[in-house]
This record gives sequence, structure tokens and C-alpha cells, in this order.
Amino acid sequence: QKQRIAIAGILAMKPGCIVLDEPTAMLDPSGRREVIETVLRLNRDEGISVILITHYMEEAVRADRVIVMDNGMIAMEGSPKQIFSKVEELKSYGLDAPQAAELAFMLRKEGIELPSDILTMFELAAGLRPFKPGESSSWQSVPPIQKEEIPPLAEATAGRSASPILETKDLSFIYNVGSTFAQTALDNINITIYPGEFVGLIGHTGSGKSTLIQHFNAILPASSGQVLLNGEDVKADKSKLRSIRQRVGLVFQYPEHQLFEMTILKDVSFGPESMKLSSEEVKERAEQALLAVGIDRELFDKSPFDLSGGQKRRVAIAGVLAMRPEVLILDEPTAGLDPRGRDEILERIKTMRDTLNITVILISHSMEDVAKLADRIIVINKGRLSFAGTPGEVFSHVDELESMGLAAPQTTYLMRELKSNGWRVDDVYTLADARDILLSLLLSPR
Ligand code: ADP
Ligand code: MG
Repeated sequence: QKQRIAIAGILAMKPGCIVLDEPTAMLDPSGRREVIETVLRLNRDEGISVILITHYMEEAVRADRVIVMDNGMIAMEGSPKQIFSKVEELKSYGLDAPQAAELAFMLRKEGIELPSDILTMFELAAGLRPFKPGESSSWQSVPPIQKEEIPPLAEATAGRSASPILETKDLSFIYNVGSTFAQTALDNINITIYPGEFVGLIGHTGSGKSTLIQHFNAILPASSGQVLLNGEDVKADKSKLRSIRQRVGLVFQYPEHQLFEMTILKDVSFGPESMKLSSEEVKERAEQALLAVGIDRELFDKSPFDLSGGQKRRVAIAGVLAMRPEVLILDEPTAGLDPRGRDEILERIKTMRDTLNITVILISHSMEDVAKLADRIIVINKGRLSFAGTPGEVFSHVDELESMGLAAPQTTYLMRELKSNGWRVDDVYTLADARDILLSLLLSPR
């Protein structure tokens, strides 16, 4: 809404041309769609020229013309079809093609003859028409999930031996309680998170995600209900607050705004220094955390302000990691980063989870990223828990998700389109799975 108000303010001046610098970086899928539709309408109906700067290739696809910049120079220029068919060249500039173009590119590499200018999943499904497999072949994987059968979290995770690391019990939170501005941000939330899990947390803008995670380390106090960390109420004992905030590390949105020290190493040492550790231990932790996020030693003594956006953010994440949290919570860690910066951060987060054995909670507006990384997804809608389950369980509710301002990953829409063309395929949620399934269907002997 704020973004659209800002656009309205510009429009009031009746410009002949508007320039939008990443207007959708922080928005949920339907917020992004609304802004882009608004901009397209202004262009079409009012004849206003639009220059849109974006990290979302799916948005660039809607333009008449795309200009790719690199190192202060124009690297590529042309129609979306011309630009996005050059997947490898785009990658060399740290960019991406839209998922449909990338998937088409992967399939072409395996010898499947698809047009070179596919931009959308719809076009890809049309391009695949001639390859429709016969009746006998179909991709067999897990049976599709029945709609009614989405188990609540407690059941979904039944059979785990460990006890939960984090749990909320009837958690509610009201901002400005008692005033005319009172606003219920969380309404009776019950969730359970187990040690070592990678949990994706999704929900429309304003659904309550950031409010929820600030309860996990007692930054915000529940209005009613409880948050339990290893079975203990996080606000039972004030003297334990410091240790709780160390055990549950929270990386806020745009964490690089909080970098302030002269050198990268000093900045990352700040957290462990506050923990009364020996100076050797502080240094060791800071160095380890920096290496874990992929910052090389030769950068340690540089100023954090000399780094790229993605590097700064990784340094900020290292600052939290250096406290050795048991649970690492990241609030939209890839917002505003280019595709390369985004992939580097996500790759690092995944490696951290696998090697440091920590529990990770990732808030993201990218359904594709969540589908790729999370073991389990929690969906918040208007302050309430909507769904919790595996990516397959959650993304089988495409229509409900869309009505909440969310979406399914793009590959899901491809599979739906193929199904409606009579293909016998299951839903998939990641690019890699879509490629594997399609290749196994298309390359298997008929
Ligand atoms: P999300 O992170 O999912 O976008 P938030 O947790 O930030 O959502 O916000 C949930 C709701 O609480 C929204 O309606 C928002 O307007 C409201 N809210 C958030 N922060 C405050 C605040 N400091 N004071 C009052 N209301 C707030
Ligand atoms: Mg938020």
C-alpha cells in the first residue's frame, strides 16, 4: 500500500515519464502484481513512459524493451524475447532468466526442440504440446494429497523423536493495546518447530510474520499465550533474556543498515563481545561466522561500507551467527538483492543449516525460494495460522494461497497447464524437479 501511495504521489504531478527504482522489492506476490499492473495501465492508457528498475525477471518480461546494465555500461539491449533467450549471457552478469525461459533452456540443452523465445510457463506448456507422451507413460511419484487432509502442525510432525525447540501456545499479540489504534497482529497462533528444521514462513504483507518472529526471542511480549524455547517460557525469567536473544538469533529486514564498525571483523565481533568471552574466543567466533557466510579473510580488515549489497548483508548475518544461535531467523534476507546476491545468500543459509546443525526460520516472499529450501512451510494470513506442512502439502492449496495474496511456485503453474492439456503429471515446486520430471517423460523410450 505504501508503494502504491508513493506512486500516486508521483502521478499527481502528471509526469510524461516515471522512473521506478525497485518498487516491488519488499512486496508479496499479489502486491508485486498490483504495482506492475498499475504501472502497465498507466503506460497503456495514459501514454506515460515507464522506466522500471527491477531484480524480478518476471517483471522485466512485461516491458517493451529491456536494458541490462553491468559495471556502469549497457551490456545488453533488446526485446524481452531477445534478452531472455540468452540465459548464459544473463548469468554472466549475475542475472537470471525467468524460470520458464530457464527451464526451456535446460530442456533444449537435452535435445528437446522448443522455441528459443519462451518467457512464460504458459508459452512453455504450449511449446511442449507436440511432445505430449502417450497414455501409457506417466510420472509416478507420491500420490497427490487430498484437499481435506492437511494435518495441523502437531500431527504433521508426529513421529519425531526430539521435543520441539520452539513452540507457541495460543499466542496473540495486539499493537497499541487499549488505545483506539489497537490492532490485533497475531491471533491464537499454535506452531511447533523441531531442532534442525528448515522452516519457511510466508504470508501477505502485513500478515504478522515479523511480529511473530519477534516473539521468538522475547523482543515483543505476547498479549496472551506463550512462546516456549526448549520447553521454557521465554518471558518467565527476565534474567535469562540476554541468553534467549543469543540462542535465538534474529536477522532483521535490511540488516546491513545496522553495520557500523570500522572493520568487518570488528562489526561481527560486537555480538560475541557482549557475551563476556575471552578475546581469542570472540575472534575465533567472528572469523568462523564470516567464513561461513562466504566472506574471505582478505576482506576482514576492510570497512563494511566498501562491500557490495549482497556482501554487506552476509556480514550482517555473520554478526548474528557469531553468537552461535541454536535458532537462526531471517526476515526477508534476499529482499532487494540481485539474483546472484540472492542465490549466494540462500546457498550459504542452506549450508549453515546442514553443517552447523542449527534450526532455520526463513521469511520470504519468494515461493520459489521457500519451495526449494524449506522442509516445512508455515502460512500466516491476517494474523492467523492458515497452513503448515511440507511444500507439497502447502502448495497444493494454490487457490487459497492466491486468495491470501500469495502464489504457488511458477513450476506448479506449468504442471497445472500441462495437466489441463491432458498430461498425466504431478505438481512440482522446484525448477530442478520440473526439469527431472519432464526429461524422464520426454526422453524415456515411447
Ligand atoms: P509482515 O511482517 O507479515 O508484513 P507485520 O508483523 O509487520 O507483518 O505486521 C502485522 C500487522 O501489525 C500489520 O497490520 C501492521 O500494520 C501491524 N503493525 C506492525 N508493526 C506495528 C507497530 N509498530 N505498531 C502498530 N501496528 C503495527
Ligand atoms: Mg515483515
